Amino acid sequence: MIRITKRVFSDLAIWMMGFGILVGLVFPFFMLLLGIEPSIVMTWWFFAVCMLAGLCVGAVNIMLSHRIVGDRLNLLAKHMKDIENHLKSITGSAQSMDCTPANCHIPVDSEDAIGASSLAFNNLVDTLAKSIQIEMDIRAYTQLLSTHLETDHLCRNALTSLNMMIGCPSGAILVEDGGELRVYHTVGLTKSSSLSTNPLILDSMQTLKRNVINIPEDVMLEGVMTSFRPREIIVEPIVYKHQSLGAVVLASDQTFSPEVLDHLDLFGTSLALALHNAITHDQVQKLAAIDPLTNVYNRRFGLSRLHEEFVRAVKQNMALAVLMIDIDHFKQVNDVYGHTVGDRVLRTIAGTTRTQMREGDILVRLGGDEFMVVLLGASKADALEVGEAIRRQIDEKHIKYGEQSIHVTLSLGGASFPELDVEYEKDLLEAADQALYRVKESGRNKMAF
Ligand code: GH3
Ligand code: MG
Repeated sequence: MIRITKRVFSDLAIWMMGFGILVGLVFPFFMLLLGIEPSIVMTWWFFAVCMLAGLCVGAVNIMLSHRIVGDRLNLLAKHMKDIENHLKSITGSAQSMDCTPANCHIPVDSEDAIGASSLAFNNLVDTLAKSIQIEMDIRAYTQLLSTHLETDHLCRNALTSLNMMIGCPSGAILVEDGGELRVYHTVGLTKSSSLSTNPLILDSMQTLKRNVINIPEDVMLEGVMTSFRPREIIVEPIVYKHQSLGAVVLASDQTFSPEVLDHLDLFGTSLALALHNAITHDQVQKLAAIDPLTNVYNRRFGLSRLHEEFVRAVKQNMALAVLMIDIDHFKQVNDVYGHTVGDRVLRTIAGTTRTQMREGDILVRLGGDEFMVVLLGASKADALEVGEAIRRQIDEKHIKYGEQSIHVTLSLGGASFPELDVEYEKDLLEAADQALYRVKESGRNKMAF
């Protein structure tokens, strides 16, 4: 078996010299056949001259092969070294992959073995460049995802850069949130509301398998969600530890290449890890901020939100009102109906109060049966209206629990800025608390400011 060793040229030299000597030895006998006198050719000096001539031809051959083949091989090696250095410089840096035939290919202008070697080398470099490119893309993608801990931001960035990297014009990212599939972000979709109940997406999430839908050009399409006619749609589940966290949907006006499908596997792994971190982060944040019974802000987080909003209201010269809400004789509800019913009442109060709030307003369970509502941009008149609506709704309500029907009332105390020109939010709270106290003193189921 032929081995590539660094002794190629010395092996060649031995063979050529040996062959030269052999030709020199055989040559006198040819002379005999041609009728030359034996007294001339069968002499030791004739043999010596022929062998010397054979040796000289061998030496010239070695020189020529060094000159012709060796120089070309050296040039090939130099090209290879240059390309290797170029690839190394790209891999180690953050710059984008710059590997074109001009700077990554050996020029091939012969059809012999050296030409074939160069072609094979060029193909190898192309494959290598592609895998370096993928590695760089994944590194950049993972880095990008690792900078976002909030699910919203993460989904937006993950989808946008995925679309860019695989050259796909539209898509959506859906994440399971509290048992429901929620569309977190879309790119290039005209409508997306039906995505969360789409059977193909649900199927992908259940089976943890990719669904590729190929739409032949002659097929009529109804209810297309994209601004273009999709040719292929991919539903890729986002799987973390054999569990589906959500799905990525990609729609393209062309069919996806096998390479893109391979890349999706790799990007999907980074996305699943980042999404799992973001979901865990959201849950921890929620646990730290939310009262588990009523699902509204807890005291610690609620008071810090009040502080932030009060500072903003003072700075931007905006109105802000606070309502303190306390259930009347709640202890009796517990005593008569039990704690479970009491808990149901607390949840009902929180739910009903929420229906009267605007987006951005803050509902806090301060503790026990006491709630606080922060109404942003609300004047005293606005706050009175909201407070009265909450009180009336609860007063008119009969909370059902099995066979039982429970009726409770609320006492409310309010204070508003800037009608009450206080310096700190705690003074506003104090004023609302005193108003609540007055209501309790004067018979309950009322509101005071
Ligand atoms: P008032 O009209 O003066 O406010 O009377 P009240 O009975 O509502 O006042 P009090 O502060 O004496 O009672 C609050 C009750 O709230 C006492 C406690 O049993 C109940 N409570 C506090 N936290 C919870 C809870 O998480 N679940 C239930 N079911 N009850 C709670
Ligand atoms: Mg009470």
